[in-house]
Amino acid sequence: MARLRPLDDETVRALTGAFAGELVLPGAPSYDEARAVFNAMWDRRPALIAQCASVGDIVAALDFARANDLEVAVRGGGHSVPGYAVCEGGIVVDLRPMTGIWVDRERRVARVQPGVTWGDFDRETQLHGLATTGGRVSTTGISGHILGSGSGWLERKFGLAADNLLAADLVTAGGELVRASEDENADLFWGIRGGGGNFGVVTSFELRLHPVGPELLAGMVLHPAERAPELARFYRDFMHDAPDEVASGMAFATAPAAPFVPTVLHDRPAVAVYAAYVGDVEEGEEVLRPLREWGPPDADLIEPMPYTAFQTILDAGNAPGMHNYWWAENFREVGDEAIDTLVERAAAATSPLTQLLLFPLGGALARVPNDATALGGRDAPWQYHALAVWSDADESDVHIAWARDTAEALRPWTRPGIYLNYTSDDSEERVRETYGEGYERLVALKDKYDPRNVFCLNQNIKPSRDAAAHGPAAPRE
Ligand SMILES: Cc1cc2nc3c(=O)[nH]c(=O)nc-3n(C[C@H](O)[C@H](O)[C@H](O)COP(=O)(O)OP(=O)(O)OC[C@H]3O[C@@H](n4cnc5c(N)ncnc54)[C@H](O)[C@@H]3O)c2cc1C
Repeated sequence: MARLRPLDDETVRALTGAFAGELVLPGAPSYDEARAVFNAMWDRRPALIAQCASVGDIVAALDFARANDLEVAVRGGGHSVPGYAVCEGGIVVDLRPMTGIWVDRERRVARVQPGVTWGDFDRETQLHGLATTGGRVSTTGISGHILGSGSGWLERKFGLAADNLLAADLVTAGGELVRASEDENADLFWGIRGGGGNFGVVTSFELRLHPVGPELLAGMVLHPAERAPELARFYRDFMHDAPDEVASGMAFATAPAAPFVPTVLHDRPAVAVYAAYVGDVEEGEEVLRPLREWGPPDADLIEPMPYTAFQTILDAGNAPGMHNYWWAENFREVGDEAIDTLVERAAAATSPLTQLLLFPLGGALARVPNDATALGGRDAPWQYHALAVWSDADESDVHIAWARDTAEALRPWTRPGIYLNYTSDDSEERVRETYGEGYERLVALKDKYDPRNVFCLNQNIKPSRDAAAHGPAAPRE
């Protein structure tokens, strides 16, 4: 059990000399801002937040944690819905100051530090007309996203974010520096593409880039909720035949009273179909035409826009500081009964901030073999996300129950293997079920790189009992 006592000044002084970044302690003016994470459900008070400016700082922070028996949380963008980026009484290895991005335009490769968000990444890479699959909300950190697999609008064209990972540099639990790629530590490279932050702190990522935009035909169409059953059937069939260039998703949500929303939909249940054509704008006009004509929609907000604008289209509806409880599953199939159940569950939503999303999979992400990276499940055709979101902590039970009841209602059509970044459920059973046949391989990696489970705040792969008891702590002292 890691210790929960506050750190005294003398103990902290031992780290000060070895640390280039900021050390934020309880009582400091920036402490509350520094410990806040995206999901307001996690109000934790770490003993120390080590805001790392360099790889040396990460090594020093891990050494300090080991010497003082502190629980370790690693923070990239702080978006983890189960709140892994902050701990109670331990040390947060906060990577936010490490925001370097280097783009090699000729090789179409970006080298990126772990504190970068997808908004930062897109801004820099789009200067060269390049991009790779990134998160759909621009404030999401690249780190936790890529390590979990990394889903995004471009995935049907270019695969998941992890499929575009060429190499990563890590600091292991014992403070060693290792590189993972197809040619170096290939076992580790397999594991960090879907196995999360279980094996070390990634200090840089190398990502493959692709020509994208800068302008795409993109946006959304809006329909009233009454049309949802027929619209969802049409959308399912449309996406069945759509080329990989069509990036899209359907959201059942309450329409905001925003200027771009027709007044008749203000604060009312509605359905949005988000879409982009990842290719030529004129070609996109042809391909997306049926989606824009069906209904017709109450609003057609699809137009030529910068890729970076489409990448922020969900930002306003996903503000930090709310309470979030998420559930997601892969579908085996989406028949009419499943659609009707989705529509019913959307109508039963208990908060106007809650969303039920339906995403098509397939394309490039499905062409990667299931065992090529740690997270499989690539042959699933569709995925749903039940995102319960609310502002009043006292109401948590009712909103959590909605997400869980939705999962129960949809269970007849789902299958194991969901990408874990999308769910609040991090039980051991869920983790084992998700990785399936790959689970034992991940345990072997955990035994090798983190036998004492220093990196336990994640969708945790537990080391084998033998490794935990006898494995080297690999200390640097
Ligand atoms: C609003 C919102 C939108 C989202 N949209 C998408 C989406 O479109 N697609 C998608 O796939 N996911 C999405 N997610 C889920 C997202 O991928 C995860 O929350 C992911 O963990 C975020 O990464 P982060 O760096 O911000 O998280 P953090 O909370 O900082 O970290 C998450 C986990 O990763 C570990 N970690 C972080 N950095 C490192 C590192 N450098 N080395 C080792 N371990 C590290 C942490 O220890 C922790 O276990 C979204 C989440 C939110 C809240």
